[in-house]
Amino acid sequence: MKLGLIDVDSKIPNLALMKLSAWHKTREDEVKLYDPLFDKDDTDLVYASKIFKFSPDYQYWPGCEIIRGGSGYDLEVKLPDEIENQYPDYSLYNINYAMGFTSRGCIRNCGFCIVPRKEGRFHPVADIDQFWRGQKSLVLLDNNLTADAEHFERIAKQLIKNKIKTDITQGLDIRLIDDAKAKLLSQIKRKKDARIPFAWDSMDIEQDVLRGIQILNKYIKSKNLKFYVLIGWDTTEDEDLYRVEMLRSLRIAPFVMPFNKDDSYQADFARWTNHKATFNATSWHAYKRRIKYVG
Ligand code: SF4
Repeated sequence: MKLGLIDVDSKIPNLALMKLSAWHKTREDEVKLYDPLFDKDDTDLVYASKIFKFSPDYQYWPGCEIIRGGSGYDLEVKLPDEIENQYPDYSLYNINYAMGFTSRGCIRNCGFCIVPRKEGRFHPVADIDQFWRGQKSLVLLDNNLTADAEHFERIAKQLIKNKIKTDITQGLDIRLIDDAKAKLLSQIKRKKDARIPFAWDSMDIEQDVLRGIQILNKYIKSKNLKFYVLIGWDTTEDEDLYRVEMLRSLRIAPFVMPFNKDDSYQADFARWTNHKATFNATSWHAYKRRIKYVG
C-alpha cells in the first residue's frame, strides 16, 4: 500500500506522523510525506495531522481515503497504543535528534489549555529509550515534566547519565520547583541555545515565580532560563507589561504567548517582547507610539 503523510501545520517535526510512518514501514507499506504535485494519483491512503485549531487547513486533498488527527482537528482522535509506543521514523524529516514524551496529561486544569481535556491527569508513559537510541540530542515534549517528582528524577538521571543535549520545549511548572529539581535541571546538558523554559501565565502565581527563580538561581544562571508569558487570557495590558519587565529586571528572557493571535494588541505586544533587539532597545510605550497602536 502507498501512504501519504500530510503535516498541515507543525512547527517542529510531527511525532505522530513519524510513529505512523514507522508502524506502516514494519508492514512493508511505502510511506512518504505527501506531495500533491507527484503523489495525487498514486496514493492509497493519506494521514493528515493538524496541531493548531487556528491555522488554515490543507488545500490540496487527494481523492483517496483520508484519516485526520491532531488537536487541530479533533481532541478525541488518538493513535492506537501499538503505534503510540512505536520508535519514531526520524528519517521522515531527516533529523538526527530524538523527540518524544515521557509523560502525558497534567496535574492542573488551566482554563486556556487543552492538555487536561486531551490527555487527562498526569501519567508517565515512557522512559527515554522508547524514542532515543544514542542520538547526541533530544527534544522533550512533556507538558508538565516536573509534575511527579519521582518520574522527573528518573528521566533527568537518564538524560544526565547519557550526556544527552536536551531541549525541553514546554514551560515547566515553577510552583513545583525545589532544590532537588533545580539541581537536576542544572545537570542536564542543553542543546545549543536552548534555555530551560518555565511559564508565568497568571498574576496569581507571582510569589511562586519569584520564589522559584530564587531557588533556580542557586544552580542555574538567569541567562539560561526563559519564561513563557501568556497574554489575552485573564490579564490586563498593565499586568502583561509588569510580568515581562519583572523578568527583564531578573535578567530572564520573557517569551510572550498571545491567547488570540488575531487580536492586534496581543500580536503587537508579542512582537515587541519576542523580538529581542526591539525589546532591548525600546520600551513598550515607545513601541506602541511608533506603530501608532490604538487601544
Ligand atoms: S500547567 Fe501547563 S500543561 Fe498543565 S493545564 Fe496548565 S498550561 Fe496546561
